[in-house]
Amino acid sequence: MSLLDIHAVINYEKLAPILGFEPTSKLSNFLRCPYCSSYTWSIYQDNCSLEQWHRCANCKKTGTLLAMAADQLGLTETEVISHVSQHYDYSFKEEDLNLFVKAEAKSRSFYTLWERASNSLPEMSKEHLGLLTGLNWNYFRHLDTERIKEGPGKLLGVSNSTALDVFLKLRGFSKSQPVIVVPYFSSFQRIKGFQVITPRFNQFKECLISSQRVSKLDEGLAGLLLLDKFESDTVLMTSMLDNMVQLQMKNFQSNVLPLPILSWKLPYKPTQRPHWEILAGKKLCFWERKPTAAILYHAMYNNGYCSFMGPYKDKNSIRSEQWIDWLNHRPAISIYQCLLRNMVPVDKAIKTWLEYASREEKTRLLLDAEQFDSSVLKLVQSKLNSKSYVIPAKKVTTSLINTNNPLSSKGSVTIIEREGKWFDNTGALRFGAIMRIEYLVAYPNGDKNYVGYVQHKETKYPFTVKVEEAKLLWLKKFLADNAIHSLADPIDIYSSRNFSPFEVALRLHEPEVVQGVDRIGWDGQGFQFKNCRLIAGEATEIPEFKVVANAPGPIRTEYRLRTEMTDRIQDDSDEMTLCWALSLGLCAQLTAPAVAIPTYGIILLRSQHDIFLNTLMSRFAIKASETKHWKHNWPRFFNDARQAFRQDTNGFFVSYGTDGYLVRNKQLIAIKASNPALQPRFIPSSGEKIVMQYLKQFTADKHFRPECWQHWLDYTIVKMKTYFDFVDPKLIDNAVKLVRLV
Ligand SMILES: [Zn+2]
Repeated sequence: MSLLDIHAVINYEKLAPILGFEPTSKLSNFLRCPYCSSYTWSIYQDNCSLEQWHRCANCKKTGTLLAMAADQLGLTETEVISHVSQHYDYSFKEEDLNLFVKAEAKSRSFYTLWERASNSLPEMSKEHLGLLTGLNWNYFRHLDTERIKEGPGKLLGVSNSTALDVFLKLRGFSKSQPVIVVPYFSSFQRIKGFQVITPRFNQFKECLISSQRVSKLDEGLAGLLLLDKFESDTVLMTSMLDNMVQLQMKNFQSNVLPLPILSWKLPYKPTQRPHWEILAGKKLCFWERKPTAAILYHAMYNNGYCSFMGPYKDKNSIRSEQWIDWLNHRPAISIYQCLLRNMVPVDKAIKTWLEYASREEKTRLLLDAEQFDSSVLKLVQSKLNSKSYVIPAKKVTTSLINTNNPLSSKGSVTIIEREGKWFDNTGALRFGAIMRIEYLVAYPNGDKNYVGYVQHKETKYPFTVKVEEAKLLWLKKFLADNAIHSLADPIDIYSSRNFSPFEVALRLHEPEVVQGVDRIGWDGQGFQFKNCRLIAGEATEIPEFKVVANAPGPIRTEYRLRTEMTDRIQDDSDEMTLCWALSLGLCAQLTAPAVAIPTYGIILLRSQHDIFLNTLMSRFAIKASETKHWKHNWPRFFNDARQAFRQDTNGFFVSYGTDGYLVRNKQLIAIKASNPALQPRFIPSSGEKIVMQYLKQFTADKHFRPECWQHWLDYTIVKMKTYFDFVDPKLIDNAVKLVRLV
């Protein structure tokens, strides 16, 4: 379970019967609004978090579905979750709920920052005004408070770096300074990230802060809160936030109603997209300086219109003459109308643009399209007069890292992959090898790993790295550790033209996202191990990179019992008898969660931790743990039974001790191992095989919840005899004599 699971479960379908609402299979339908009772209520779902939210076109009520349910039922949101899980017999883990509460808190803190910033706008300081003037965004300062709140205050706000630190956990400011924030909304109450403008860049400068990765901002829309006041069926969409805000602010100077313009961030891939459903029924007009694959893609799939003309800001952030001229001499509404007049269907827009574009621009667009989506590539190619454009090597543009100030970038560099190396667009070698990230492994606890390789000539050097550690420094060490010294220099580790090889790798080849495993043992359906999963009587191999590092338990993919093993486990030595006894204890312990009974710890009755005990533990793949909290459903070893009783959190442990202190500590499986004559060399080399064989067969059977633990142990004994029917049952009976419950 994860946050995604909570959002996936807490949905309209599940909540409707509890709330007494009409069931529906289509979320886009208009439903009866619980607030104003008109049939103008819609449910939406976030593309990324799966969270559902609602909005009424009549009374304008909006919020998350969960908050609405809490409101209707008079419960807290967490209470609603537990109510739903009881109603449908789900169980959310405590840590999932904690994760949920944490995510909610983060989301609230983003929104709080926004509310404060917006409310501060009418009483902004001189410094803020200076900042706005520098951006040419200050047209509204003469307006009264109410109009500022209803207009500019829905689009941007003023704050300071201390607040960014508090609410966004954004560090990197040396001293307190005023900032302007423009939020990007994924829904009316969820903010994906902010565009932050600081005085350090006296002109407009990009510096994005997002709730997640910056690229997630692709799902957000700036200006969304003004949507209700758009008096048009057309919405102008542009990634040129600066132009959008400027035009809007100029318009507010004389108009109460906003211009129907929204801003978005150009996505890197087709699956990232703003919530177009919010704009359902409106005609989308994309206004950009130049076509990119993302613009064409979204215009195509929304039957949108495009214009690649009009005033723009060039890459050096200097406003073009034309733009200044337009803004100084024409009313905002007339500029808006002029932009609309230039709008044409996407294929016509691209055709016109191609007629004037340089060869380099055309190639760039083709490359972009090739990486983005084949339908876009087809469209562009079909509009080319000459078919002679050959797509050269793979190519991405990535920003240079500014190590002194992570908030700003130092420009960008284009990396081209050719003949197994990375070059920049001047032809200089930037990395004498290539890097691939094949998998992004996402663990339930939120950790993420990249799994990939560096390929130098013919050799691949595989790696696994935590996402937060995937930096140049790590790569440098990786190259040195693998003795690929010659590669370190061309990445420009010491130069000011650093770029992130990981970002380049991610964008050249999109990794497959796989769910990671961070828990060994019973997982609800079967048994998870380091490199296999036992389910329905079968052992399925799983790639080891999916499983969290330092996972306990056996590493084995072969569960056939070889003849020497089947012979070995049938001898009647005291050591083998003890192995059977321990196997019984372990199997009863490991399978307890499968029938929903508490887990019993195992105590080997032996006075000291000697070489015999040590060998026995290693043969059953049981090790001590360094972490305090044990989340695995596989036992860890405690060298001191009293410590085990104190520190154990889930009953999965093995320890040893004498009879003396068992009385006080109930819920234990005690196994007699006190015979000092037991010899380590007589312990079969892989005792864990008995356990694995048992678990494998166990998953093929149906089992019922026992009345008590003694029944479970007896049941395990019966099953052990069944699963190992080639073993003389007397051997197992001898082992049973060593085992008792405390
Ligand atoms: Zn309503």
